[in-house]
Amino acid sequence: MTRQSDPAGTALSRRDLDLLRQSIALSETSKARGRHPFAALVADEAGKIVASAGNNSMPPEGDPTQHAELVAAAMAARALPPEALAQCTLYTSAEPCCMCAGAIYWTGIGRVVYALSEHALLGLTGNHPENPTLSLPCREVFARGQRQVAVVGPVLEEEAAKPHVGFWK
Ligand SMILES: [Zn+2]
Repeated sequence: MTRQSDPAGTALSRRDLDLLRQSIALSETSKARGRHPFAALVADEAGKIVASAGNNSMPPEGDPTQHAELVAAAMAARALPPEALAQCTLYTSAEPCCMCAGAIYWTGIGRVVYALSEHALLGLTGNHPENPTLSLPCREVFARGQRQVAVVGPVLEEEAAKPHVGFWK
């Protein structure tokens, strides 16, 4: 699926599912490294991964702003010019929070595909002190912008939920 055949960017291709599954697998890796089970990657128009990151929000190694999507978006923005970023898609195991949606917007990444919705994530985390989710869908953040960001999700929520089961206790 190219942005030419799908200008709105809202159709889901086999490659999208493959890259989204890779982000879910990375969220498992993140958990195995003792971090929160979140991960994101950015792929260019051809589907080549240009950046990927797991969550790193726990001190002392990380800090609370180092959500996977924000880190991956920043890495992509240092690697690619704006025209290329506009053709990129960020794949994430869970819906970007408003901070990360802001980072995606400001880096100019043109499209987001997410697995778990913020709402489903809240169901998994409860009001855990390490992840007090913000109930603000990324679509609402992007809707306030002057540049369009296409959003697809939730997709593969059951697969994406697995790394979270039993984690937030
Ligand atoms: Zn975030």
